Amino acid sequence: MLNWESRQTSIRPAWFNLMNQLTRRNFNRSFLAAGGSAAAFALLAQSARADQSTDLGKLRLTSFRFNVTPPVGHSLCGGWIKPVVATDDDLEAIGFVLQGCGDPIVICAVDWTGLLNSAHVRWRQSLAQAAGTTPDRVAVQCVHQHNAPFACLDAQAIVAAEGDLPEIVNVAFFEECLDRAKAAVTQSLNHFRPVTHVAWHQTKVQQVASNRRVSRDESGKVLAMRGSSCRDETLRALPEGLIDPWAKSIAFYDGEKRLAACHYYATHPMSYYGDGRVSSDFVGLARKRLQANEPDTCHLYFTGCAGNITAGKYNNGSPEMRQVLADRIHAPLLNNLQQMRPVAVDRVAWSTVDVLPLPNSALSAEAIQRQISDPSQSVVNRNRPAYQLAWLKRLQSGLPITISHLRINGAGMLHLPAESFIEYQLAAQEMFGGEFLATAAYGDGGSWYIPVASEYPNGGYEVSVAFSDPQIDKTLREAIKRVTA
Ligand SMILES: [Zn+2]
Repeated sequence: MLNWESRQTSIRPAWFNLMNQLTRRNFNRSFLAAGGSAAAFALLAQSARADQSTDLGKLRLTSFRFNVTPPVGHSLCGGWIKPVVATDDDLEAIGFVLQGCGDPIVICAVDWTGLLNSAHVRWRQSLAQAAGTTPDRVAVQCVHQHNAPFACLDAQAIVAAEGDLPEIVNVAFFEECLDRAKAAVTQSLNHFRPVTHVAWHQTKVQQVASNRRVSRDESGKVLAMRGSSCRDETLRALPEGLIDPWAKSIAFYDGEKRLAACHYYATHPMSYYGDGRVSSDFVGLARKRLQANEPDTCHLYFTGCAGNITAGKYNNGSPEMRQVLADRIHAPLLNNLQQMRPVAVDRVAWSTVDVLPLPNSALSAEAIQRQISDPSQSVVNRNRPAYQLAWLKRLQSGLPITISHLRINGAGMLHLPAESFIEYQLAAQEMFGGEFLATAAYGDGGSWYIPVASEYPNGGYEVSVAFSDPQIDKTLREAIKRVTA
């Protein structure tokens, strides 16, 4: 039987260092009290409220990018699909540092499947260190392509201990990416430009996003799933279902000069995958085209709450569809850029809320470990549970998930964790009232899927890999309400 106590001891130094850095500024007594209680309420702490900028004349921005393409042979999507055989187009991490609103704020989008638990913290720490700020002022969001690394250092340690499983992430490659991150951010600090104006716009996307949980019985139970590609004509003929059709963009300007543009759309970003050919896929190709046409602006693309959203209705998975879908994303984003009317910056604020969800009660550490150690099981049935065990350990250690929000004038940039369902993004927009809210999900991916509570009883793939208790619904909505208030 697994011993939580000894496991906790073995991971304690690393976790506690991470926690100290994360929590020094943030955690109040309500966190400690709740953390010590058996009936802990899942929402545990609200950070120090945002630094509302009072001297906007000092607002400055610099951008950075670095290559995060894994080498040939590296695991993709956790090691249960074909590893890297070639690269069709590079994976990038792209971000910016915003100075002049309290300590610097860093926002970064990464072309990886996910960054989970301590891997996510390590990224935030590295970017924070290089930018001269603290990890609670850094948002790192993955784009979630699948021919890409799905990085969890804790799950990697678990599979490495087995000795016969493929790596989840190569630790040396992971560290090398962090070195590149620090170098890229440090270098960027020589190139700050004033931020005087901001603009935003949204355009409806046609024929990309569709809900994948539309095939149901009379009671609402999910029968079949529309994946990121779908060759089943009956499933494709079903309605789009609940989506957010808007492609949103927010841009920062120095006078008339556009410095950085953040783009958002909620769908799984894969046209096809599993062939070992690394690609930033259709959303990355759309972003790269915007970048090529406007080289002096830094373009970032974020995937919204796409836990239950794919291109499945419109994508048969053929190679040609990658370009077609890229065109369908590129056109509305280009329109956003063309329609933008910059206005003077009059308000900037950063806020965070820390949450510590409860684990899905169906997860038993002992049973999970048994399955991981069972050589008769397939790789997917051993590597995937390693992520579950990593999540349980992480919750046990008390390391929270940080949700953040950058408010600039009447627009908001919300950073949510993992594979959140589209309902959260729509709810967040509603809470934000008539103002413009752009949501990036796929921050800390530790909890995997985050369905809404009402969808847990309806089953389906997403619920089978939802590592948190349904209470996370209430927690997340409360966190969104507080962080965007
Ligand atoms: Zn996914």
